[in-house]
Parts: sequence; C-alpha cells; structure tokens
Amino acid sequence: MHTYTAAVEVDDLAVAYGKVTALDGLGLRVEAGTVFGLLGPNGAGKTTLVKVLATLLAPARGTARVMGHDVVRDPFAVRLRIGLAGQFAAVDEVLTGRENLEMVGRLYRLPRAEARRRAQDILERFDLADAADRRAGTYSGGMRRRLDLAASLTGRPPLLLLDEPTTGLDPRSRQELWAILDELRSAGTTILLTTQYLEEADRLAQRIAVIDAGAVIAEGTPAELKSGTGTDVLRVRLQDPSAIGAAEPLLADLAAAGTTVAADKPAGELTVRVVRPDASAEALRRLDAHGLGVATIQLTQPSLDDVFLALTGHTATASATPEEPR
Ligand code: ATP
Repeated sequence: MHTYTAAVEVDDLAVAYGKVTALDGLGLRVEAGTVFGLLGPNGAGKTTLVKVLATLLAPARGTARVMGHDVVRDPFAVRLRIGLAGQFAAVDEVLTGRENLEMVGRLYRLPRAEARRRAQDILERFDLADAADRRAGTYSGGMRRRLDLAASLTGRPPLLLLDEPTTGLDPRSRQELWAILDELRSAGTTILLTTQYLEEADRLAQRIAVIDAGAVIAEGTPAELKSGTGTDVLRVRLQDPSAIGAAEPLLADLAAAGTTVAADKPAGELTVRVVRPDASAEALRRLDAHGLGVATIQLTQPSLDDVFLALTGHTATASATPEEPR
C-alpha cells in the first residue's frame, strides 16, 4: 500500500485563463489529519487551486497530488477521496434535504438502503432532521450551507475541500459550521479551506498559507505568521496624561526600525511596535526611574490582520475592493 503523510502535495503549479495568470508557481503541503487554511484576497487564486485539486481544471505546469494520487494522471482515484463544498452551495432546490443527500449517495454508487441510512445519519448530525422532508429551496442560507457540506461528506472522503465555507453566513451559523469542522478533524478528516476571514483561519487552521497573485507569500502556524512580522505591540497608559511629553522620548529607541511611538495625548497612552522581548520591563524601568507612574501596560501579538497588511501591503478587508488604493 502507498504510504503518505501528506494529504495534499502541490509543486510549482501554474494555471492561466487565457492571458490571466491565476496560479504562478504555487507549492504547498497539507499533512493528513490537519486543517489547512488558504488565506488571500479576491482573485488571489484560491478557487483555482481548489478546482485543480478537485480535478476540475488541469494545470499548465507543475504537479498536484491528493493522498498520493496525481490529479492529472489519476483523477478517478482523487475524486473518490475528496469532498467538495463551496461558496455557492450546490444543492438542488427542488429536492428535499433528504432527497439531495440520497441522490449524492447514489452518485457514489451506494446501494439504495445504504444511501438512505447515510442520509438519515448525516441529517441528524447536521441538525437538519426536522427539515429533512422540506424542499431545500425553503432552507435558510445557513441550512443550505450545512446541507451542501453534508452532501460533500456522503462519500466519507478523507479530504474535504471547502471554498469559502462561511462567506455570507451570519455569526451563529458560522460558529455552528466551525464546530462541525472541529468534529470532522477530530475524527481524522483532513480539511483544506479557503477563506478571506483571518479570524476563521486563526480559529480553525493548524497551518496557513497566505496567497497573493497566484503564489504562496507566507506559510506557517498562525503563531509563526504573527511572530513573523517581527513586532509585538506595547501599550502604556500613564497615570498622569499630561506627563506624556516626558514619557515619549524615553520609549523612542524601543520602537522597531521604521516605526515611531504613537501618542494619544488626552488618554495619556503610548503605543509602540517593539522587537525586544524585554520591552515592557525596560519601559517600566525607564518610566519609573523618571517618576512617571504607569496605570496599565500591555504587550500583545499582532493580529493576523496586521500580518496580512505587513505581507501584502493591504488589509484583507480592503482587498475585497482592490480598486481602492491604500
Ligand atoms: P475569490 O475569493 O474571488 O474566489 P480567488 O482567490 O478564489 O478569489 P480565483 O477565483 O482562483 O481567485 O481567480 C484567480 C484569477 O483568475 C483572478 O484574477 C480571476 O479573475 C481569474 N479567473 C478566475 N476564473 C476565471 C475564468 N474562468 N476566466 C478568466 N479568468 C478567471
């Protein structure tokens, strides 16, 4: 038997739509049993990568393997091992939830009784049992998304490809979906998901690749990506806001190269991007030596938003409207 630890291995992948280069030398590796987040702005190439992995699109260059099977040479082996659920739920609105799932089961060539049993099982697991015999066209957005995800699991695939699974969902439906994905991963399913939500990648993924213009520009655990910006944020609030002018120069040389101390005068608060691990202790020591009382002091890691901004020069949200220069 073929042994592998990588559920997905992609090397030097290139895809073009006519003159538009969608992927350009993209490489990544997803370990089996993990959640891997593909993070990137609109048009970065996330959906294109998912399509290649789902054998729906052939690459112009490079290789992609799913559970050891090449997507071009062995597409049938790949299709048996993946579930695909997308931004636009592929449910048939005329059929009931149950009929949708049974149909997918039949497409997987399951015997009728087994397809029926799996449909019931999945409907219960996804909290859709009460609505099982209603037409999917009457479902809410969250229910539809759950049904779509449920359908992608009918074949019990070891790898789940999710293209922006929670885009457009309300916060509660999003939380519910996250909980389901946690369960799936605990049960051993590998999940590759694309998202524009940094919070979602942070919450779900063990590793994240940031994609921009068809290539991976950063890859690592959420913590690695955050520490990769090289800076933490130090926030000091003085007991006496009027002392801020005296405090500011004391912290100036703690600021990371190319950054300055930001002063909020009315609040008596100074914010500094720092690189030294002893920055808060050093700040306290200096302020104390000058008799400047500190009300609060806080050292925090940058958010994934900060990471994204540092890497791409634009925020993830602003990138949704790329025509707006920042
Ligand atoms: P989104 O978040 O909008 O889905 P994405 O990161 O998934 O973005 P892709 O959909 O993979 O990005 O698109 C990558 C690039 O390829 C974009 O520039 C896009 O405009 C282009 N593109 C995608 N599909 C086609 C197509 N069928 N024909 C021409 N260009 C395309």
